[in-house]
Amino acid sequence: MARIGFVGLGIMGSGMVANLVKAGHEVTVWNRSTSKYSEITKVGAKTVSDPKDLLSGADFFMYCLADDAAIKDVITGGHNLAASVKPGTIAIDLSTIDPETSSAERAIYEANGVEFLDAPVFGTKGEARDGGLWIVVGGNEAVYKKSLPVLEPISATTHYMGKGGNGAKMKLVGNLMVASQLVSIGEALTLAKSAGLNLRKVLEVAAVADFKTPIYAGVGAGAIAGDYEVNFPLKLMLKDARLIQAFAKQFNAPTSSAVVTEDLAKAGVDAGLGELNASAIVKVMADRVGVDLVE
Ligand code: NAP
Repeated sequence: MARIGFVGLGIMGSGMVANLVKAGHEVTVWNRSTSKYSEITKVGAKTVSDPKDLLSGADFFMYCLADDAAIKDVITGGHNLAASVKPGTIAIDLSTIDPETSSAERAIYEANGVEFLDAPVFGTKGEARDGGLWIVVGGNEAVYKKSLPVLEPISATTHYMGKGGNGAKMKLVGNLMVASQLVSIGEALTLAKSAGLNLRKVLEVAAVADFKTPIYAGVGAGAIAGDYEVNFPLKLMLKDARLIQAFAKQFNAPTSSAVVTEDLAKAGVDAGLGELNASAIVKVMADRVGVDLVE
């Protein structure tokens, strides 16, 4: 049993906390909006009103926050929790952020003698709820191994990617693959519908042929039902499309699907769809050419 201080009760953090408690850990949480406290106390987590109270006596300090701005508000500036973590505690950032922000966190922790892992996750609301995420970790390998008792209860698999920052980099590489699949299923469904094909039949083929993917299946089924209920918010996909491009620019690496994703996601967010699922980029794409994907 470990004592864990946890920040961030969003879609992902809430599921993670519930699974950490279920695994027998003592978890104390802080969230900016305290309206989320009533649900999390029902699963057995404790709450605090001052985030610094998470840190005394914690073996692990874990957080899953929206974006770089949230990390700056809570961890590296604002509440400045990174500077208050005690040596001996292991800090683990599960958010999707710029690898440069991750390095800034690492510098603060290292200056204070605190071990730090960048450990963003793949999977979405269902995997967070079911403890079935896929975690990619950068940092010291011995610290990674020591952290497995708090990573395994929230994940299906964990992947040690090497030195600090490699987890954050892998997350952007993976989300580039997600972006390309969102764009390609949107283009395929829009073309198919325009050409008079039955989209149920199109998805029947896409579910078995050698180009099948879980993203095509899930996003396709949602699109023909007109269902964009949130798992991964569109506003966060916009953030990731921008992070991918900034990261890739350093290497002059191509990211055409992230460019298209940014354009579509921005149009969706500007139209007030930012809290819908990221799959809404398919709807934005189809709407632009006047195609209705609902069947
Ligand atoms: P979310 O539901 O929007 O939750 C975001 C969390 O960050 C909330 O706890 C929110 O607090 C907090 N937050 C945001 N800005 C803040 C600020 N300035 N100060 C303090 N707290 C702040 O997001 P999520 O879906 O859980 O995603 C969390 C992270 O995981 C993101 O980096 C995302 O890219 C990544 N991720 C998400 C998914 C997914 O499918 N959802 C999948 C993989 C990775 P409030 O409750 O007060 O707003």
